[in-house]
Amino acid sequence: MTPNKEDYLKCIHELGEQNGKISNKKIAEMMQVSAPAVSEMIKKMIAEELIVKDKTLGYYLTKQGLLVVSDLYRKHRLIEVFLVNHLHYTADDIHEEAEVLEHTVSTTFIDRLDQMLGFPRFCPHGGTIPPKGELLVEINQTTLGNIKKLGHYQLSRVHDDFKLLKYLEEHHLAMNSQIELLTIDDFAQTYHISYDNQTLTIPKIIAEQIYVNPI
Ligand SMILES: [Zn+2]
Repeated sequence: MTPNKEDYLKCIHELGEQNGKISNKKIAEMMQVSAPAVSEMIKKMIAEELIVKDKTLGYYLTKQGLLVVSDLYRKHRLIEVFLVNHLHYTADDIHEEAEVLEHTVSTTFIDRLDQMLGFPRFCPHGGTIPPKGELLVEINQTTLGNIKKLGHYQLSRVHDDFKLLKYLEEHHLAMNSQIELLTIDDFAQTYHISYDNQTLTIPKIIAEQIYVNPI
C-alpha cells in the first residue's frame, strides 16, 4: 500500500516529538519511500497549508495539519479500544488493523463508535483520545527516561511500537503495572526497576518510550 497524505502528516508529527531538524531524508527513511516521492508530497502539503517549511525545524504542522492528525489519532485509538474490548484482540496485534481502518471509516461511524464505547479517554497503550474537533494533547507525558527521583510509579503509556510491545510482554511488564525505580545509572544509561517480585534493567533508549506517573 502506498502511503497517503495522512500518513505523511502523522510521520511529520511523530518526528516533531523527537529532537532535531525534520528533513526530506528523515521522512523518506521513516516512511520507506523514495526522496522524489517525499518532495512531491511535501509540495502538495505546503500548498494546502497543512505544513510549513522552517529554517531550523525543517517542517512543522499548521493548526489545520494538527487537526487532521488529531482526527486520525482519534479514529485510530477508538478503533483500538473497540478491537481490544469487543473483538478480543491483544494490545500488540491491534496496531496494523487500526492503521488500515483509520483511513477508511467515516466520521459518522467513529462518532457512533465513540458513543457506544462510552467516550473512552485513553487507547489500550495509554495514548490520549482527543475529543471530536479538538487538538491532541497527550495526558501521559513523562517518560521513565525523564525521571530523576527513585520511588514508586505506574506504567501509564507506551509507544505503540511492535518491538517495544514484544519486549514488554517478554518481561511480563503490563500497562498500568506498578513499578519501583531502584537505581538510575547515568554512566551505563540504564534504569533498574522491580515489579511483581522481579527486577529488570531497562536501557535509556527504551526508557524514553515508556511513560510513568508517580504513585
Ligand atoms: Zn494505541
